[in-house]
Amino acid sequence: MAALTYTALYAGRAEELRHAVENSENIVRLVSSDIARNVELYDLSLRAAVSAAQQPETWAMSEALRQRVLFDRATAASFLGGAYVLDAQGHLKASQSGIDEPGVSFADRDYFLVQQRNPDADLFISKPYQSRLRHGVLSIALTRRIDMPDGAFAGVALVAVRLDYFQQLVDRVDVGRRGGVFIIMQDGTLLASKPPMPLGVGADYSSWRNYKIISRRDAGTFSAHSEADGVERVYTYAHVGNTPIIVGVAPAVGDILAPWRRRAWFALVMTTLFGGAWVGVSWVLAFALRDKIIAEGELQRLAVTDPLTGLANRRALDQRLVAEWHRASREQTPLSVLFFDVDHFKLFNDTYGHAAGDEVLMLVAERIASGTRRTSDMAARYGGEEFAVLLPGTALQGARKVADKIRRRIETSNLAHSASSYGRVTVSVGCASCEPPVGDSGAKLLAAADALLYEAKAAGRNQVQAKQWTGEAA
Ligand code: GH3
Ligand code: MG
Ligand code: MG
Repeated sequence: MAALTYTALYAGRAEELRHAVENSENIVRLVSSDIARNVELYDLSLRAAVSAAQQPETWAMSEALRQRVLFDRATAASFLGGAYVLDAQGHLKASQSGIDEPGVSFADRDYFLVQQRNPDADLFISKPYQSRLRHGVLSIALTRRIDMPDGAFAGVALVAVRLDYFQQLVDRVDVGRRGGVFIIMQDGTLLASKPPMPLGVGADYSSWRNYKIISRRDAGTFSAHSEADGVERVYTYAHVGNTPIIVGVAPAVGDILAPWRRRAWFALVMTTLFGGAWVGVSWVLAFALRDKIIAEGELQRLAVTDPLTGLANRRALDQRLVAEWHRASREQTPLSVLFFDVDHFKLFNDTYGHAAGDEVLMLVAERIASGTRRTSDMAARYGGEEFAVLLPGTALQGARKVADKIRRRIETSNLAHSASSYGRVTVSVGCASCEPPVGDSGAKLLAAADALLYEAKAAGRNQVQAKQWTGEAA
């Protein structure tokens, strides 16, 4: 669940950024189209002025009429700084507002040099400059070359556009609290920006890191930290038509992701809280369950185990006898039962005490358990000093061997028993086998073994009495 939440959150973040880029692209497109439309209008005025300036008749007209012929189309533009015609030496030849400073030369301006040297310069947009005619107002010039009939340079027609035009464009765009909008020329000269850049408009930003990324391609998107204020922004930019002007929109990553961050925090806290609680509760329950299972297992073990000898108890033997009886009947295999009883054990207790008696019982139990090798064999303390052994799959012959081997191992343990005629601890064994089982219950087989045990006792003890059981009651 946590992984799902984190994945969804991560996808949501990418989606927010994508959405912001889409939004930026739309703004760039709108601002660009405004600029492109205005450049086109100014260019129409320029073309009209150029073609009028190339007619000799224009210069024969009265000044008022000439002005209207040259600049009629330019008057409507709102951020127009002025429209002019310069002669081949860069002096003012005609002006939309009338010539008031005829001595001023513009021969040093970049646009004049470009148009003078390059007959194919076409529409040339200059760098920002401080106007010499309009009290230093920052402007850019849109210019076209005026040719002589023979193609020689005859001057320049120009339309000056105040940088205010670009500034009011970026001011109208809302890109969030820490977002940025800028209009920059291809050579790195800033035309307008919001918030203001450290070097101001008109300055050269070509050495700035983000400008270098922007200058690589016509349009694109990237995210970077601003060199001016260190804020991380997603920059989306594009060139305006065929002009050297680039429009860029850069909302701050922090602003874009702010709503997402709030939602993400909430989801993270909830997921962690609930997930943690779930794990915690599961943990506690798991431990409680584990303890319970362990305790139950121990109880179960105790219920079928004899505490003194560690062998199975009578209850376990009875259960197993039923199961083995059924199995032997089903599979038609032999089944044998041995019944052990320690000889003169009451006398042993009387002579050596109960504690010594218990030790003998433990030893006898050990000898019986280690005398039965197969995993299907089962030794149990039946009660007091009596033990029983189940030998599934074992016929009379084998059972008798096992019984006698155990009897001998106990006898040769040489545990002193002065009250016994053998002088040591011995056992008597009854061994009953059936092959395959007959009758209806294993209990009768056990009873038969018990009866044989008493025959062994009667015959002098420390011996095995074995017999094939045929189903008759003992
Ligand atoms: P027999 O040879 O005929 O079997 O003689 P016996 O004395 O063993 O016969 P009986 O069954 O009468 O006596 C069983 C005695 O075993 C009674 C009791 O003193 C003793 N006994 C039974 N259970 C325990 C026990 O858990 N510990 C000890 N120390 N003695 C036990
Ligand atoms: Mg007994
Ligand atoms: Mg006994």
